[in-house]
Amino acid sequence: MRHNHSGEIAVSAAAITVPQASPGAGYQALKGEIDAAVARVLASGWYVLGAECRGFEAEFAAWMGLSRAVGVANGTDALALALRALDVGPGCAVATVSHTAVATVAAIQMVGATPVLIDIDPAHYTMDPAELAAVLDAPPPGLPPIRAVIPVHLYGQPVDLDPIRAACARHGVPVVEDCSQAHGATLGGRKVGGMTQVSCFSLYPTKNLGALGDGGVIATADDALATRLAALRQYGWHRHYISDEAGVNTRLDEMQAAILRVKLAHLDAANARRQAIAAAYDAALTGELRPPARRAGATHVFHQYVLRSPQRAELQAKLRAEGIATGIHYPMPVHTQPAYAGRIALGPAACRATEAACAEVFSLPMFPELTDAQVAQVAAALRRLG
Ligand SMILES: *Cc1c(COP(=O)(O)O)cnc(C)c1O
Repeated sequence: MRHNHSGEIAVSAAAITVPQASPGAGYQALKGEIDAAVARVLASGWYVLGAECRGFEAEFAAWMGLSRAVGVANGTDALALALRALDVGPGCAVATVSHTAVATVAAIQMVGATPVLIDIDPAHYTMDPAELAAVLDAPPPGLPPIRAVIPVHLYGQPVDLDPIRAACARHGVPVVEDCSQAHGATLGGRKVGGMTQVSCFSLYPTKNLGALGDGGVIATADDALATRLAALRQYGWHRHYISDEAGVNTRLDEMQAAILRVKLAHLDAANARRQAIAAAYDAALTGELRPPARRAGATHVFHQYVLRSPQRAELQAKLRAEGIATGIHYPMPVHTQPAYAGRIALGPAACRATEAACAEVFSLPMFPELTDAQVAQVAAALRRLG
């Protein structure tokens, strides 16, 4: 038995002709450019926090339309470092969602803060702004004060950010966007991650912008905050060997930074390809299966193309029989996982919509290098499901 990156058991891997994700295909598509970038780093003799990292940070900030970006070792560290830079730690609560990669909650705990989990709007699978506002107005008893909110732009779909920002502004609470699944998604014509004080991106290989190893990046228009983040990521050094405050080690290495510079130049095209694949899937859906909702005024960048059905297992088995792999993002809400069950604060909605979604969602193959023939194969199989 093999486990893929989403933990799904691939029982008949040999028969799969359309994988659910394929970072290897992402490498092959840009092999010449990536190999040259890696060779450049190897020959340079400088392997951590050098010219490639500075180049990637400048190019990523420019692509975001922001002044600063800070490369770090992974997306979890990006979130934890952003919280630290906002002085969020022990004695603080941080609100986020249960319907996310567990990393979002792990980052809150890394800084010693207490997570409180808000339910989702079931149409878009993102944080319910009304429940967040209610929790900010009347926090659950026994919870430390809420000092930050982390909305997650899940599956490539922007959250309903305006009411979240408004509720947070009323309470003087900063918003830290988790953009790990939404590099390039827009809301009201602006890229997510650029509308709040600080935003965090995982650059894990399967993400819309993915390294060939671990990576993460924090984006901000606040120069002082960026300078503090850059120090915190390396032992709190503002000057070499001198720690002005206690920091950590979460550096982005030069090899990944060089690869990410190559990938960044192709990101807009890769997102457009994901959107075209999503449109082909939409057109093939029949019967009870409904295309994923797109938020009005937003562009969805389809980190995942997620369907929902009470007959999930049966549909997945039918697709698998045709050589098509699917995934589940995520099979178990954070608050029901063994590490958290009974130990984590929930808002008044008790994450019921999250639990219902987790029981029914499944993700079709989605990565830019899917061939037209593979997309047609999935579409044909979807037509037969109806
Ligand atoms: C991938 C992901 C993370 C964590 O990123 P890592 O690079 O794996 O640490 C955090 N939040 C969300 C929503 C993610 O999808």
